Amino acid sequence: MQAINDMEGGDGCWLFPTGVAAIATTLQALLKSGDHLLVVDNVFHATQTACDRFLRPNGVTVDTIPWDATDLTDWVRPETKAVFVETPGSDTLEVADLPQLCESARDHKVLVVADNTYGSGWLYRPLELGCDVSIIAGTKYLSGHADVMMGAATAVGDAVEPLRSAVLAAGQTLSPDDAYLTLRGMRTLHLRLARHEESASKIARWLAGQDAVIQVMHPELPGHPGYEIWRRDGSGTNGLLSVVFDDGFDVRKFQNALTLFAAGSSWGGFESLVKGFTLRSALCERFGKREADAIRLHVGLEDLDDLLEDLEQALA
Ligand SMILES: *Cc1c(COP(=O)(O)O)cnc(C)c1O
Repeated sequence: MQAINDMEGGDGCWLFPTGVAAIATTLQALLKSGDHLLVVDNVFHATQTACDRFLRPNGVTVDTIPWDATDLTDWVRPETKAVFVETPGSDTLEVADLPQLCESARDHKVLVVADNTYGSGWLYRPLELGCDVSIIAGTKYLSGHADVMMGAATAVGDAVEPLRSAVLAAGQTLSPDDAYLTLRGMRTLHLRLARHEESASKIARWLAGQDAVIQVMHPELPGHPGYEIWRRDGSGTNGLLSVVFDDGFDVRKFQNALTLFAAGSSWGGFESLVKGFTLRSALCERFGKREADAIRLHVGLEDLDDLLEDLEQALA
C-alpha cells in the first residue's frame, strides 16, 4: 500500500482483490443516485460492465465521450461528478491529453479517475498530471508473474475521504499473501518493463513492415494517435501492441500457428500472449471500414529472436 502510494504520488492508497474491484469500488465511492459520469470510449470492457451493472441500475447516468476529449464543456451537466479515463486505451492504445482534460475537469469541478494499468505507476503518473484517483490492476505488471490478482486505487485531495469510506463499507481488502507477492514483483518492475519495452517496440517495428499488416498500434510508433503526448507525459512503453491485418488474412489461423504466444488476455506476466478482438473505433474508419479483425500481443520476457521467429513462421 505504501509502496504503491509512493510510486503514484498519492495522499492515500487502498488495495483490492482484483483490478476490477478497485474500479467498481472507486465508481461506487464517487457516484450516487442522480449523479452523472463521463467515460471515455476506449476503456477496459469491465469498466463499461461496472457502469452497466452497478451505476445505471442505481440511478447514475453514464455518457461515453471520445478518448481524445480535452474540453468537457459540451458534456458536463450540473450533476456531473466524475470522468473516467484510461490512457493509453485498452486494446487500441490511443494516448489522451490528460493534463488538458484535467484542467477542463477542474474548471467544471469534476473529479478525474484514470486507469493506470498500462503505466503501472512506473511509466506514467496520472496524479501528477492532475487526476484525482489512479487505479492499477496489479494483476498485470506489479506482480508480474501471472500468479496474483490484485488492484490498487490511489487518491489525492477531495477523492481521499469518499474512497476511504467506500472501501470500509464494502469490506474491500487484499490478502497478506497476495500483498507479499505483489511487493516482491515490484522489486523488479523497472527491469521487467525495460525488457518488455525493448522487445515489444522491436516487434512493433518489424510487424509494421510485413505485407499482411495494415496497422500496428503502439505508442512509440510515429503517427500513432497521441504519439507526441506519450513522448511528453510517459517515460516508456510496455509489452502491449495491437495489429490490424489485411482483409484476406486469416487472423485465427495466424493465432493458432503461434507457439510462444499463448492464448490469453490477462497480460503483464513474463510470458507472451495473443488475444483476438474486433476493432470498432475511429482508427478503423481511417481504413474506410466499420470494423476489422485485430490481435493484441503481450510481448513477454522470452528471447526476442525466438519471438520474432515464431511470428515469422506463423505469418508464413
Ligand atoms: C486487466 C485490467 C483490469 C482488471 O484487472 P483484474 O485484476 O484482472 O480485475 C483493469 N484495467 C485494465 C486496463 C486492465 O488491463
